[in-house]
Amino acid sequence: MSVLTNLNNINKNIKAACAKVNRSAEDIKVIGVTKYVTIERAKELLDSGITDLGENRTEELIYKYEALDDRAKFHFIGTLQSRKVKDIINKVSSIHSLDRLSIAKQINNRTDKIIDCFIQVNISGEETKHGIEMDEVHNFIQQLAEYKKVRVVGLMTMAPDISDKNEIRTIFKQLAKLRDTISSENLEHAPCEYLSMGMSNDYEIAIEEGATHIRIGSKLVGN
Ligand SMILES: *Cc1c(COP(=O)(O)O)cnc(C)c1O
Repeated sequence: MSVLTNLNNINKNIKAACAKVNRSAEDIKVIGVTKYVTIERAKELLDSGITDLGENRTEELIYKYEALDDRAKFHFIGTLQSRKVKDIINKVSSIHSLDRLSIAKQINNRTDKIIDCFIQVNISGEETKHGIEMDEVHNFIQQLAEYKKVRVVGLMTMAPDISDKNEIRTIFKQLAKLRDTISSENLEHAPCEYLSMGMSNDYEIAIEEGATHIRIGSKLVGN
């Protein structure tokens, strides 16, 4: 399928999900996850109008950054090793996977810009999932105040790969509630307005539960 055909389908589904809960489709940012695909396919994505690209490995992000034109804005969505922060920090427009102070420290030391970050939260409690536990998020965000280059713009989570839609919905609801709590504190370094949640198999549920950034790979560009 062409990216444009896939995108048209996704846009239809986004509109329908938004209509269910009285939201505007304009409030949803689609991040096209290009981690599986070639430069040519990523170019097709840019031509379709999606210019926010998600990558989960530093080497691949750098490669795509060099190969694509400056329409592309990169979001780092994978596990980040602190020693690699310096390689990508001036190439990204946001990081969706902040979950350790060692990364915040590297961000702070390695760039002059303020970097928009999402805190990755492990809601399902699966050992294999990265992110910090729900009850540690508050404390973690407080500790981030000293890293002036880190701005906490929102929370991110990955739902487990299961077919139980209710369980997925419960996870998204919990992340939205946590976001509400944190944003209501009006912390200067953590406006925390956004929710990065929803992938190819669960983005409609995520939108119904308040997602502002959805990260779509396989159903948009293929895998
Ligand atoms: C791969 C990946 C995605 C996209 O997954 P699809 O199911 O292919 O849409 C989204 N978020 C993260 C963090 C990923 O690693």
